[in-house]
This record gives sequence, C-alpha cells and structure tokens, in this order.
Amino acid sequence: MKVKQNLRVRIDADAMERIWHWTDLAAGEFSCLATVTDDVVVGGVQLFDQVCTSASTELDQDALAKFLVTHQQPERVRAWIHSHGRLNVFWSQQDEACIAGLANDVCLVSIVVNKKREWKARIDIWQPFRLTFDDLPLEIRLPDQQLRGECEKLFNAHVVEMQPVLMPDWRGNRPQGQKQQPRPSWMDQNGWPDLEDDLADWR
Ligand SMILES: [Zn+2]
Repeated sequence: MKVKQNLRVRIDADAMERIWHWTDLAAGEFSCLATVTDDVVVGGVQLFDQVCTSASTELDQDALAKFLVTHQQPERVRAWIHSHGRLNVFWSQQDEACIAGLANDVCLVSIVVNKKREWKARIDIWQPFRLTFDDLPLEIRLPDQQLRGECEKLFNAHVVEMQPVLMPDWRGNRPQGQKQQPRPSWMDQNGWPDLEDDLADWR
C-alpha cells in the first residue's frame, strides 16, 4: 500500500485552543472527542463525562454511548484527543486499548498532548487492513481572514433584502422601533411625487 507522502492531520485553531485550555485546567489526564472531515481536519472538540486520575483516563463506555447518541454527527466523531498532564507524550498500553476500542470502518485520528504543549498525532485504519500512521505532522488551520470580504461581495451581488415597512398610525406615529425613513428627493412631505420642478420645466 502506497502511503500518501503528505499525510498529515489538520486541526481547527478553535479546537486546538480548547484542548490547550482543558490541558491547563486538568490536574492530570483528560479525554475529549472531535469530528474529522473527509480531508482529515479535526474540529468540534467536545468533552464527555469522565473520571480521571493523574495518570489515566478511562473511556467509560456508557458515557461514550450517551455522547454519541446526543451528537449531531456521530458518524463524524473520529478523533480521540487526550492529555498526559505533566508526563511525556507517547502511546501507552492503555492508549492502544482505547484506540482499538474506537475502531471504525473509516479511520481514527488520535492526538496526545501534555502541559508542556507537546503533542503526537496518528491515524489508525482497520479497513482493508490494520495500519497505524504515527508521528504525523499536526497543522493548525487558521480561520480564513479573507473569507469575510469575499462572502460580503457575493452576498451584495446576489441578495436583495426587503425591509418590511409598517405604516404610521392615524396620528402619524410610527410603529415602535421603526426609524423614520429618509424622504426620497422626488417625494413631497405628504408622500406625493413632487412635480413642482417638472411642471416648471414643462411650462
Ligand atoms: Zn495516554
């Protein structure tokens, strides 16, 4: 099997930031799960109920099942991230057991981190046969700053938004919250077309 040269794991900046916050907050270990896109971008990290010690975090099968049942895209939950607290980053026997327990038809991305901001990333596949790609590069995917401008341009080019206009009541009071619309130049103060100038020209 030819392994892609550029096999790497990408993770949304927001997801990575959450992982570092939880790593800082946890006295020892903790685990979280995340979704993985088809082009291997990890995002949407979420915690689930767990009991952790300084050196272990066991995946509680009941908590895991509960998490997946309430998840909007359970089939996309294919990343397991955990921290080793102050210990080094490596794959322990227990980690190997966790990864085996999360086996699926597509792939599983695993990331282990520690409080020193070290990390290790790997991808495991079980189909067509069992393979582990370890020590993969982990790239942070930053939000695209150009995107807002591009979206604005496209929005303005394609979308016309109608403003609902509520009529003033008989006293001329406008409905609450509605600003007085500026009077167009062709309209006189009673709302009629201002023909004064046109008539003057015609005459
Ligand atoms: Zn571990």
